[in-house]
Amino acid sequence: MQHRAIIGLGSNKGDREFYLQSARFLIEKELGSILQRSSVIETPSWGFDSDPFLNQVVVMETSLGPLALLDGLQSIERRLGRTQKSYLKDGKPVYHARTIDLDILDYDRMRYHDERLTLPHPHIAERDFVLASLNELNLNLTNHEDTL
Ligand code: AMP
Repeated sequence: MQHRAIIGLGSNKGDREFYLQSARFLIEKELGSILQRSSVIETPSWGFDSDPFLNQVVVMETSLGPLALLDGLQSIERRLGRTQKSYLKDGKPVYHARTIDLDILDYDRMRYHDERLTLPHPHIAERDFVLASLNELNLNLTNHEDTL
């Protein structure tokens, strides 16, 4: 059975365009097909003081379940050189520059929560670039009247 997932890609370190391109290549090779992709946009770093990000949103089709998809995305993150993880300090996330950040923004409109995965991604609504990219693709995760 095929599932529809929306993935947010971000890079703010090194050759950012290369990391986005490599992540898309590995997603298609290992995790499923990319059906739609937004433009790549540059955005100020979010939640911490660092270099600006290049961001993009892709819609993909996958036969993997949500946790297997997360495993696959994290494996790609590791291979593309992301080394430091975000962590919580005094209940707030501490972020780092990253060669590549891959988030599952949505998976079949599923609501899910455990220690590894929250669906839909909890920060969708706070990040303007995500909303702009979803809008470009005619996707609106806050209502159910769109094309997804
Ligand atoms: P970050 O370092 O900010 O990319 O956060 C990565 C952490 O968020 C990982 O430990 C994931 O297990 C967790 N996480 C929770 N929900 C999601 C999601 N929807 N997509 C990607 N990572 C998630």
